[in-house]
Amino acid sequence: MGSISEVPLLSEKHSGIPQNLLEKAKNAKALIYETRTKETNTRQRLPIIPQGIEKDIFIRALEKLAEQLGKDNVEVNDKPLVDGWYMEHPNTHDMMPILDDEELVASAVVYPSSTEEVQKIVLWANEYSVPIFPISMGRNLGYGGAAPRVRGSVVIDLGKRMSKILDINPDDYTCLVEPGVSFYALHEAIQAKGFAHMWIDIPDLGGGSVIGNTLDRGVGYTPYGDHWACHSGLEVVLPTGEVIRTGMGALPGNNTWQTFPYGFGPYSDGLFSQSNFGIVTKMGMTLMPNPGGHESFMYAFEKEEDLEPLMEIIRPLRIGNILENVAQVRHAIQTIAVKGLPRTKYFSGDGPIPEHVFREQLKKMPIGDHTWLYYGMSYGPPHIRQYKLEIIDKEFKKIPGARKIDPEILPEDEYFWSRDRIAAGVPDLVELLWVNWVPNGAHVAFSPVSPIRGVDAMKLFNLGKRRHDEFGIDFLPAFCVGLREMHLIVEIVYDKNDPAKRKAANDCLREMIDDAAKEGYGEYRTHLVLMDQVADTYNWNDNALMKFNEKLKDALDPNGIMAPGKSGIWPKRYRGRGWEMGKESGAKSEGDGVALTESTKF
Ligand code: ADP
Repeated sequence: MGSISEVPLLSEKHSGIPQNLLEKAKNAKALIYETRTKETNTRQRLPIIPQGIEKDIFIRALEKLAEQLGKDNVEVNDKPLVDGWYMEHPNTHDMMPILDDEELVASAVVYPSSTEEVQKIVLWANEYSVPIFPISMGRNLGYGGAAPRVRGSVVIDLGKRMSKILDINPDDYTCLVEPGVSFYALHEAIQAKGFAHMWIDIPDLGGGSVIGNTLDRGVGYTPYGDHWACHSGLEVVLPTGEVIRTGMGALPGNNTWQTFPYGFGPYSDGLFSQSNFGIVTKMGMTLMPNPGGHESFMYAFEKEEDLEPLMEIIRPLRIGNILENVAQVRHAIQTIAVKGLPRTKYFSGDGPIPEHVFREQLKKMPIGDHTWLYYGMSYGPPHIRQYKLEIIDKEFKKIPGARKIDPEILPEDEYFWSRDRIAAGVPDLVELLWVNWVPNGAHVAFSPVSPIRGVDAMKLFNLGKRRHDEFGIDFLPAFCVGLREMHLIVEIVYDKNDPAKRKAANDCLREMIDDAAKEGYGEYRTHLVLMDQVADTYNWNDNALMKFNEKLKDALDPNGIMAPGKSGIWPKRYRGRGWEMGKESGAKSEGDGVALTESTKF
């Protein structure tokens, strides 16, 4: 990792920062290192050998792979685990661990340069029965980052050498990308070509890969915020090495791959999202037309209970497209945390920050005292916006005390302006700042979904708050409102260097997952460590869905090499050996061995 004042640029590295965000990145990095007390481990480590293969055979197998890919493209993970930070993240482990640092760690990282090389790696993994774990960028922070689920897996870092934007089509408003293309990179490329008529949709931070985020069903904040719904066409290397193109991609010479997602026959794309059934090497994405104007707005609501009527107001407006984007309803503690300062600046006690303390702070801010902030954007020319904004204003103000915040009063560095850029498809780096809430700040998410209803919002809010209070953790909820559903995103921010805080985060999450399931709520996405538990809540009809997934897994991946355990789907050779993680497994991520395959029986 570079010095404290250096940040790699996008022009130098596929995962780098665009020039216009360099200063922000330097500041963000400085803030993170100011609160960091975790010492960087400098001890040389022995590489972790995955279960089911002997060390000598494994090392020889890696040498064989290096003969095919080139020595520099097979890197044994025998070095210290360096966490870095968002812009200089590791590809060997989760830089935000909730277990011991050495639990979810790769044995080696390999760098293919083409689909053919990905095929070679997959065939190699089958030959030696080595678990492999694909990442595009590895910035899936809060959900496991770059870490593999099975300790000692070989991580396939696709992004480093496969980062081409293969096509940007200004007539169809589509693009075709490789795994290493970040939202930053796609945005820069469209700007550089002068395609002002096209927007991209981006998540809160722009450093993730378009493919990685979409496969994990991440969201953004324009009307194209449901990334999975907006993709069109995949190229996939299957666990046995064959390559397929989905949708229209299966028809040679077609020009519709990025414009019609379904093709003919069963729609197979879903099999490759949040799954371990294949490695995506290319993906098509649709782009949004520039709406010809846009305007952010923000409303403040006074009381916790305002959430209930607010959701009832939002639902018909959102479904009717008067509220047009994936909006956020954020809790007031977040208004303070996103300033990027440690919580000790406001409160030095243990346990959750008391309400009167954060309310005092809010009163000093231009936004003033509140409990909830609604961040939204209206799109189109002024007269179209005015029509919608008037309806919104009338409806929102039905809640006593609701206030529209005049953006004119907000300073340039106010978080509102970051949301404004993001909802207009311009990537930013501000969201990151709340990790500094505690020293060695890490975050892990609890993300249940529900319809856009007041009772559901209150139930989920109360459920989360109760458990956070019990475990002494600050509660930072935000509701992201999709078209007919909302994701509650609760980020637990914890000191990753403190085993007690890590355990509290883990325990709190496990309780919330169970509580939510009892009420009929499930998570849309989760951290590697929680995948078994979450998968187990989707157990209707005697686990029929998991049985179906296992059938597919056994058929597509007979040797069980592809991301074993991802989304709770374990290959046959791992099943019944205690690999699943739940409340009982505590901090242990490994099971007791794997069954032998033909290739390991020598
Ligand atoms: P990002 O950096 O874009 O947030 P990651 O590269 O960390 O995303 O990947 C997010 C998740 O999606 C991980 O669980 C990873 O295994 C999976 N994934 C990422 N890229 C691919 C790919 N090209 N093929 C299959 N799975 C992938």
